Amino acid sequence: MPYIAVKGTHDVLGKEAQAYRYITDVFKAVCELYGYGPIETPILEYTEVFDRATGESSDVVRKEMYTFKDKGDRSVTLRPEGTAGVMRSIVTNKLYVNDLPLKLYYAGPSFRYERPQQGRYRQFCQLGVEAVGVNDPHLDAEAICLAMTVLKMLGFENLKVKLNSLGDASSRAAYKDALRAYFAPRVESMCEDCKQRLLLNPMRILDCKVEADQEIAKGAPKMKDFLSEESEQRLYKTISLLNEMGVEYELDDTLVRGLDYYAEVVFEVHAISKEGKDYGALLGGGHYEGLLETFGGPKDIDYGVGFGMGLERIYSLMADNKMLDDVKSGVDIYAMPVGAEVVDDAFSLVEQIRALGYSVEMPFVPSKLGSMFKKAERSGAKFALIIGPEELARGMVNLKNLDSKEQKEVAIETLDETLDAEFEKLENPEHEHGEGCTCGHCHD
Ligand code: AMP
Repeated sequence: MPYIAVKGTHDVLGKEAQAYRYITDVFKAVCELYGYGPIETPILEYTEVFDRATGESSDVVRKEMYTFKDKGDRSVTLRPEGTAGVMRSIVTNKLYVNDLPLKLYYAGPSFRYERPQQGRYRQFCQLGVEAVGVNDPHLDAEAICLAMTVLKMLGFENLKVKLNSLGDASSRAAYKDALRAYFAPRVESMCEDCKQRLLLNPMRILDCKVEADQEIAKGAPKMKDFLSEESEQRLYKTISLLNEMGVEYELDDTLVRGLDYYAEVVFEVHAISKEGKDYGALLGGGHYEGLLETFGGPKDIDYGVGFGMGLERIYSLMADNKMLDDVKSGVDIYAMPVGAEVVDDAFSLVEQIRALGYSVEMPFVPSKLGSMFKKAERSGAKFALIIGPEELARGMVNLKNLDSKEQKEVAIETLDETLDAEFEKLENPEHEHGEGCTCGHCHD
């Protein structure tokens, strides 16, 4: 049998790998813009971390976790989501003694034993944030704005924020009672999961993907009719902040989120096609409470807001909609030593060019010029730098724009200036250097 990747996992290669890095870089840069700092927690945690945090009724805990015994007979689990590990780490390291809120972001793989299908993997990468220790709707609205900024910077134009309020504990208790009363006489005809959900957390029935169950759920009582006054005000505050920021949203009663720690405002961001088709959630999150205490942390600051966005889904939508064409792939310059006798000089010249910040690739065993040009094209380089013995002896090299095919002889001594000018021209094609030009290249 040939060696293949484990079902539901895949190798990320070539342009896809470049795109993953690009998307992750944009995400991290925007997080920093909003005052979030990085955190990396282990992918492997004691199973209890997820059992405690995600709650009994969550599908992730009930059937999707990769849980196994290690050689020391301890039950460990590959993280199915990012929040629980971050909360565990905040308590383990007493990070809450710092100024609050603690604003953290992470990027890394999560594992769920799901049925693999389009956009659904068993190993997927989540980009997520958590802002912990302060109970303030501004923080919720800020997290939504952060998510929208990431997606807009990636080029998504048609986005919809779906919002719901799960209310405070008393609102939820009253709502769950009403749901139990509604579903109890109907649950016999519903799926096995819903029968379980009715016992554990009837709100999760609203999230059921079975069509017939969704039909039944349509007639169920609505959360909004059970919200306490405080919860209602909190929802309106978030909405008014989003309005001020010009963020479009839609209230969605069916949005309950899969994990039990959510309370008050929860949200998803969906991408919508030009024709109005909903591509599904790119990210989901919301306000949560009681997680720090679960791990033995303090109760009085036990609030947070967070979201997780799926890198694979964002990538596949961007690829389908040709949003990745401008993502840089490959090196800036492909250097071509013309003949074995110039390889060593080319080697040190290339090292100097890299020190200027340009990425360069060069072959150490030069082939014929034609074949090196083909490799240069394949490398994705913008320029070929042709290093010939005769030119080298005069302190010169040839620089060829691989797009326009324009080639010129340039002095090695001033190569840094030439490269700066050429790359600036590529970035800013309208720009004409010379008299009257105020750019940094023409005016120091
Ligand atoms: P969740 O923690 O379930 O709210 O998921 C947050 C985001 O992660 C979703 O909106 C998806 O974009 C992504 N996601 C969740 N599960 C998967 C999966 N099995 N495969 C790929 N992406 C996923």
